[in-house]
Amino acid sequence: MAIVDRIPEFTEVVGGQIVTTVLDKAFNWAQKCSLWPMTFGLACCAIEMMSTYVAHYDLDRFGVIPRATPRQADLMIVSGTVTYKMAKRVRLLYDQMPEPKYVIAMGACACTGGIFQKAYGVVNGVDKLIPVDVYLPGCPPRPEALIEGILALQRKIDKGTIRANPAFEHNQQRYPKLKWKSEEE
Ligand code: SF4
Repeated sequence: MAIVDRIPEFTEVVGGQIVTTVLDKAFNWAQKCSLWPMTFGLACCAIEMMSTYVAHYDLDRFGVIPRATPRQADLMIVSGTVTYKMAKRVRLLYDQMPEPKYVIAMGACACTGGIFQKAYGVVNGVDKLIPVDVYLPGCPPRPEALIEGILALQRKIDKGTIRANPAFEHNQQRYPKLKWKSEEE
């Protein structure tokens, strides 16, 4: 099967010897088909995330291949309760990932604090620390729900343009710098 039959973003010309497209479409296609999540979990939702990585769900077919270091990952799946103790580590890992990077808040705890919302040590939503692209409700969301979240992120990437991509803006941060208590002292 020719590449143009598989990828509608590409147009075939000159008898199939040449394909054309626009830069945004080519870039988005490459980006959405090679999402590499960081292997990182915070609480019980991480068990569901690990189940999603097994052969039964075959995430490789979406180009999703977990990486063991933030420096090679472009997707952070925040799976579990974010405590204030872990908040600085979560932000540090996010900062170590190269642009363009994406975040899925997996489960009620990562989205809003969930059942621990009123606990003194729990951050009420990871979007207080880092920008979230997809919110995934549930306690915990099943592997099928996480796959749907990844597909939703792929659809979002597909609508993007490289002109608005922070990876191409020198020294640009799309989120505010947080001041930690220890830095203020
Ligand atoms: S949303 Fe539910 S399953 Fe997920 S971390 Fe919170 S309590 Fe655990």
